[in-house]
Formats: sequence, C-alpha cells, structure tokens
Amino acid sequence: MDFYSKANMKISVIGTGYVGLSTATVFAELGNDVLAADIDKEKIDGLNKGVMPIFEPGLKELVVRNVKEKRLRFTHDNKEVIDHGEIIFICVGTPPKVTGETELKYVEAVAKDIAENISSYKVIVHKSTVPVETGEKVKKIIEENVKTNVDFDVVSNPEFLREGTAIEDTMEPDRIVIGTDSKKAEDIMRRLYATIKGTMLVTDIRSAEMIKHASNAFLATKISFINAIANICELSGADVEKVAEGMGYDKRIVKSFLNAGIGYGGFCFPKDVQAFIKISEQYGYDFKLLKATHDINQKQKKIFVEKIKNKLKDITGKKIGILGLAFKPNTDDMRFAPSVYIIKELQKENAKIKAYDPEAMERAKLILNDVEFCNDPYEAAKDADVLLILTEWNEFKELDFKKIKSLLKNPLIIDGRNIYNPENMKKEGFSYISIGRKDEV
Ligand code: NAD
Repeated sequence: MDFYSKANMKISVIGTGYVGLSTATVFAELGNDVLAADIDKEKIDGLNKGVMPIFEPGLKELVVRNVKEKRLRFTHDNKEVIDHGEIIFICVGTPPKVTGETELKYVEAVAKDIAENISSYKVIVHKSTVPVETGEKVKKIIEENVKTNVDFDVVSNPEFLREGTAIEDTMEPDRIVIGTDSKKAEDIMRRLYATIKGTMLVTDIRSAEMIKHASNAFLATKISFINAIANICELSGADVEKVAEGMGYDKRIVKSFLNAGIGYGGFCFPKDVQAFIKISEQYGYDFKLLKATHDINQKQKKIFVEKIKNKLKDITGKKIGILGLAFKPNTDDMRFAPSVYIIKELQKENAKIKAYDPEAMERAKLILNDVEFCNDPYEAAKDADVLLILTEWNEFKELDFKKIKSLLKNPLIIDGRNIYNPENMKKEGFSYISIGRKDEV
C-alpha cells in the first residue's frame, strides 16, 4: 500500500498496555518500524508468541500481521528500545495515589532510563495522562541524569482512545494534540502523523497536558450530569431516556455521554477527575464542579445498591445473578469498574453472587472473591432471586427472555444500564427496575 512508504520512521514505545500496544500496533500498520517494550516480562513473552495481554477488538489480528511482516517487535530491554526509535513514546501507567494525586514514579523511571541510555537525538513523547508541568519534569530528569552530551526534545501528545474502539480511535482520532516548544520536534511529529487522518493542534506543552485533563473532566461531568437528571426524573416521574434524547438533538449538546446508569469507571475518568481536582488545588483553585462530578458518581453506585435492597428486602443468602463485570462493553478492563463496588456491597450482607461477562472474567477473578463465574447469561440467571445488568454488552440486549424467565427464581431484572424497553419487559412478564425511568413496570 502506498501510504506505507510515506511514514517509514523508527518508533519506540515504552509500556504495552491499552495505550502503548494500540499505539505501537497502529504505527506499525502504517508502515513504521516499531519496537515496543514493557518491564512486565510475561507480557512481552506472551506478545512474542501472539498472546495478547488485553482484550481489544481487532488488536490481535493487527499485532500478528505486523509482527509477521517485521514492522513490529517486542522487547523487555529498555536500553534496546531507547536506542531504536527517533521518537520514543512513553505509555506507562499513571495510577492514582491514595490521596488522589497522580503517581508519576513509572514515568519518572522511564525518564531516568532514557537519560542513562540515550546516545543520539530523540523526540521523547509522553502519551500517558499526566498533570500539567510533567513534560518539564521529564525534561529536567533527563538533563540531570544524562550520561552523554546529546540533544533531545520533550513533546506532550495526549492519548484520547477509548477502550473497546482503541484501534479505530488511534487510526482515525478526532484530533491529534502536539505540545512542544521545538520546531524540529513538531516537524518530526507532523511527519509521523501525516498518514493519520484527524485535525492536528500544536500547542505549548502545558496546554497539551491540560487539554487531556480538561477533556476527561468534561466527559465525566456530562455523565454525572445525566445521572443527576436521572435521579430527578425518578423523583418527578419523568423518563431520563426521553430527556436525554430531547437534549441530544441539540447540536450544542449531542447525545453521546448522556447515558444514565451506575456511573463511570475504568482507568481514566475516576483517576483523572481525582487528579484534576488535586492539580487545581495545587494551583490554588477549588474546582467545586469537578468535586460534585466525583460525588455524584460515587453516589450513583450506592443508589443502585439501595434499589436492590429495597426490592429484595433482606438480601442475606439471596442469589444474585449479574450480567456484565467490565467497566464498559468491548473491554476486559476491570479497573474501577462499578461492578466491583456493587458486588462487594452485596457480599457484605451475605448475598451469593453468580456472574457472567463475555471478556472480563479472568481479570475479575483476580479482584473478586466468592463469586461463582458462569459460562453464559443463562447460567448466571439460573435460580437467581434477581438478575442485575451492570455492563451494556450487545449480547445482553438479545437474550432469550422466555428462557431467562424460566430460569430465574423471581422474574426480576434490575438494569443499571437501561438496555431494555420497560414496556417490552412488562410484556415478557418481568418486574423491571432501571435508572431514571418509572420506578417499576
Ligand atoms: P496499562 O496499565 O494498561 O499499561 C501500562 C504499561 O506500562 C504496563 O504494561 C506496565 O507494565 C508498563 N510499564 C510500567 N513501568 C514501565 C517501565 N519502567 N518500563 C516499561 N514499561 C513499563 O495502562 P494504560 O491503560 O495503557 O494507560 C497508560 C496511560 O495512558 C495512563 O496514563 C492512562 O491514564 C493513559 N490513557 C489510558 C487510556 C485507556 O483507555 N486505558 C486512554 C487514554 C489515556
């Protein structure tokens, strides 16, 4: 394909999680020579054998093809990866500390590694989500630890991919943000991204870092906003699905992220909202709106647990069937998944949990105890006093409801994602409770 000849750059990627692996694979697919590294030896050994460390639609085929065509390789040797690329992407994790601030030790460790091993000009790009001023910190760490007199530039290129559509999002992003104060680095980044469609915005490093946090904070706020509306709908007898639809036709608002439910989870919104509150505090700004976003999100899970308790009265010894564990569909990611909080709360009162998720059960087994993991939705429903919907996987939208009804001890479904039509559920003979709609049909 002729676009392969356009890029053809040497790229290094450090960290092969959701972001690093997607980035490495897509740049390889676009014709670049990519070497990706991770300190997790098991991950790298697996990748070298074609075993994916994560579930992401379309990823495996692309990895296997690019490895076969020798555009993509994996190593656990950070020296080798630092030597390889003209551009080095830092894609390591930035988890939250207990205080909510961003843990930067993985980014800092990579910066030190780069300082110790750099021997020619490199563009060092941080893709991980980091507080504003991290680019300057990375630069300082490298300057203080560098062994040879060598030139380099630091660029912020925040990642906006969504798990579940990571490949698509990386291939065709809405926008590409490049934060740099170096014309040379900007030109190199422009050359790399020339093969990718998407509006490019070049800014200073701090603005690029802020764009990522501001975007995630805005989206999380949109989710909390519609969840607050759902709560008012329940009190007033309105239907949040209709309200969201009516709001969404407004071009200034749009429908996306107006899905009422049990709140946001995953590795981005919960930690990034908390981190942004802390960052704002450090600059002397009390970001009350974002605090409310976080509080509403926390409460939304509690409200759901209350719905279950109100309906079942005593949940001691009750069997609770659960469909969906991942924080959203099309991923196996369990990090900050609302299902974890909900299951633990129900277990506190000795409920017996049976659960099914199409992709996330292996990861869920590492986090949850005393859960009976099932082979399909029907096994999860069998003999259960209630069936909960916690993730809106497509396969749950097309169940055989007659079969589900015959398997359940009570024909009761409590839906945390509003995936069913209440009238249809009534026709199927279920008692159906959802979010922000008429309390029960
Ligand atoms: P992840 O935990 O899936 O992957 C991080 C990887 O970095 C791990 O495999 C880990 O072993 C590796 N690593 C840690 N230290 C290392 C080191 N010193 N050398 C080499 N490898 C090292 O994380 P992720 O979900 O890919 O997220 C990475 C960053 O991107 C985070 O800052 C996150 O906030 C941001 N981000 C994530 C998403 C998402 O949807 N997951 C989207 C946009 C941005």
